[in-house]
Amino acid sequence: MLRIRKFLAVLICAAALGVAGMAWAQTPQYDLLLKGGHVLDPANHIDGVMDVAVSGGKIAAVEKNIPASEAGKVVDVSGLYVTPGLIDIHVHIAQGGAPLDWFAPIARSHLRPLAIPADIMLQSGVTTVVDAGTAGADTFLTEKEEVIDRSQIRVLAWLNIVADGMNGGLEQDLDQMDPNRCAETIRKYRDLIVGVKTAHYWTVKPWDAEHTPWAGVDRAEACGRMAGVPIMVDFFPRPPERPYSELILKKMRPGDIHTHVFAQQFPIILPNGKVNPIMWEARKRGVIFDVGHGAASFWFRNAMPAVQQGFEPDSISTDLHEGSIVQLAVSMVNIMSKFLAMGESLQDVIRQSTVNPAREIHRTDLGTLSVGSVADIAVLQLLHGHFSYMDDGYARQDGNEKLIARMTIRQGAIVFDPSGLSMVEWQKARKLYYHTPTDKDMRRATADDYPRHLGKNEE
Ligand SMILES: [Zn+2]
Repeated sequence: MLRIRKFLAVLICAAALGVAGMAWAQTPQYDLLLKGGHVLDPANHIDGVMDVAVSGGKIAAVEKNIPASEAGKVVDVSGLYVTPGLIDIHVHIAQGGAPLDWFAPIARSHLRPLAIPADIMLQSGVTTVVDAGTAGADTFLTEKEEVIDRSQIRVLAWLNIVADGMNGGLEQDLDQMDPNRCAETIRKYRDLIVGVKTAHYWTVKPWDAEHTPWAGVDRAEACGRMAGVPIMVDFFPRPPERPYSELILKKMRPGDIHTHVFAQQFPIILPNGKVNPIMWEARKRGVIFDVGHGAASFWFRNAMPAVQQGFEPDSISTDLHEGSIVQLAVSMVNIMSKFLAMGESLQDVIRQSTVNPAREIHRTDLGTLSVGSVADIAVLQLLHGHFSYMDDGYARQDGNEKLIARMTIRQGAIVFDPSGLSMVEWQKARKLYYHTPTDKDMRRATADDYPRHLGKNEE
């Protein structure tokens, strides 16, 4: 009896497999297949030509020679690099720009915004950004409702220890730096807030009873300890009371991040040209060093000797805002290219823009092409030729490589593809493409149905 039952079970299984096999033959197994690209996925030690298949917004397979017939949409990415969607852990986001009623008297504000719209960063292969303390405990909900919840790009945040957030005129007010309020807010939004930011604290004026040298850092650390998260420090050394060495060797905990590491104010290169030993010592302690390029935090005279002596940054980030996006930082791929020009390998630059920042923000589910992880993907091209790059001191460094972003995929949707890698030539497009919207049928005339916007096919 038992044997018969077993035999029946095998028969039933075989029948089920047969049906599944037929269905598989009719409907493509994958939504999207990136074919023939050079996959760089440092998290999985992959560095070679492979195909990447996407299904249901997730990575479904990373293998050699996946048949084109198994995917609904196939994109030839040969000659290009396929990497996890890039992670930029230092940006400043807002609604950005002005509404179209800007010139009307009813326009809400005529101040020039400092932060930028988050989705702009999709143009650089970036699929996750971390806002660096633009909002604090009192303003985070507005940031969440007005920007984070409305963006296609994944937006996470460092919470400013200052409850009012950045640049609101209250950054020197100690009453604003309440570790309890900070930790409470982080616990409430633990899925979005990755840590605490301290910045711009008491950089010029003389110390007084309220403004002690370490108040900003100490309160951020207190919040970080309470909430169990790292802190990101934007720092201005003021020795002897507030030296850089004390920050990175004593105050910061392992896993805390010093952003703006190659800024002019840090003694990271000694007069003899050698990397200051405190940098190696701090790195050994577990302190993380992040680029945070921005408009005033990247000098080749610090970065170049450091990189040449093997002191590469742990993570590359832009510090993009209105003051840095046009000329100085420009974009994630522009800053990654600067590190190529300084002699870093492409593999290192990709590691510092994917798996490393993912670890730093404790989101190891991101920054990888592991099967089953979210399909956030960058398709990059490495150009060879004569290129030059600038720093924030208006000095130049020449190089012979340049990374550009060709396509960005966010949760399986192709959200950036300006050169039409994934598109058919317009003359060969299907009939619908030639359709003119009418009162009765307002469908957008598209060449295919593949999602080009996260969560929706049409705006
Ligand atoms: Zn910043």
